[in-house]
Amino acid sequence: MRKNIVAGNWKMNNDLSETHELIAHLKMQMVKEPTAEVYVAPSFISLYSAFQSLKDTPVKVAAQNMHFAEKGAFTGEVSAKMLKSIGVNTVILGHSERRAQFDESDEILSKKVSAAIANEMEIIFCFGEELKERKANKHFDVVKSQLENAIFHLPKDAWKNVILAYEPVWAIGTGETASPEQAQEVHAYVRKIVAENYDQATADEVSILYGGSVKPDNAREIFANEDVDGGLIGGASLNAIDFLAIVNSF
Ligand code: PGA
Repeated sequence: MRKNIVAGNWKMNNDLSETHELIAHLKMQMVKEPTAEVYVAPSFISLYSAFQSLKDTPVKVAAQNMHFAEKGAFTGEVSAKMLKSIGVNTVILGHSERRAQFDESDEILSKKVSAAIANEMEIIFCFGEELKERKANKHFDVVKSQLENAIFHLPKDAWKNVILAYEPVWAIGTGETASPEQAQEVHAYVRKIVAENYDQATADEVSILYGGSVKPDNAREIFANEDVDGGLIGGASLNAIDFLAIVNSF
């Protein structure tokens, strides 16, 4: 059975003391055995101390990005080995903000995916179409090529460390959510192409999260769909009560 997962992407929010305030709220409000696996992704600045503070809880800590190189002259970058050295084993890759604002191409992402897997890390791989592509009815083609170009080169046994996150760009931070039907339709399509590229068991096992303006009042109907296994949450993950309400929406 595949896992239900809710991951909070804190983006470039929260300095160190705000990070600890939010973590303290999460710890206070969280039930002992949540119905989903819970991840949070603080900024690099707070990653080590967030990990230390959450290591005895069910909450896992993920990085928001990493470089594909092992080490070297890459000013401002962080490697898989560095993340692992502080206990962080999960990384978000391919977020649309990285693609659009930091020029992360499929080619770069494919190298990052390989580097993370080579370092035995787990990845939350994001993909999704822009508004103009949705309007032109190209969303299936876009999603397919993003997956083909950046992650379908992985061998089958690497997929136990893959979590997928469908995030239509037009729904991120906009208050505009894909309808539960739109989310289900793309998720089912993604599962089908994973099965075609690998096999049905791999497709059945991989958790596919939805991301884009998920809030406590819409999470339940989105998560109720057969192929939606949870969410990647931006804005609403910055508030412990809202985030935990989403975690409890299965
Ligand atoms: P949002 O962001 O929930 O604020 O729309 C989602 C994301 O970027 O992962």
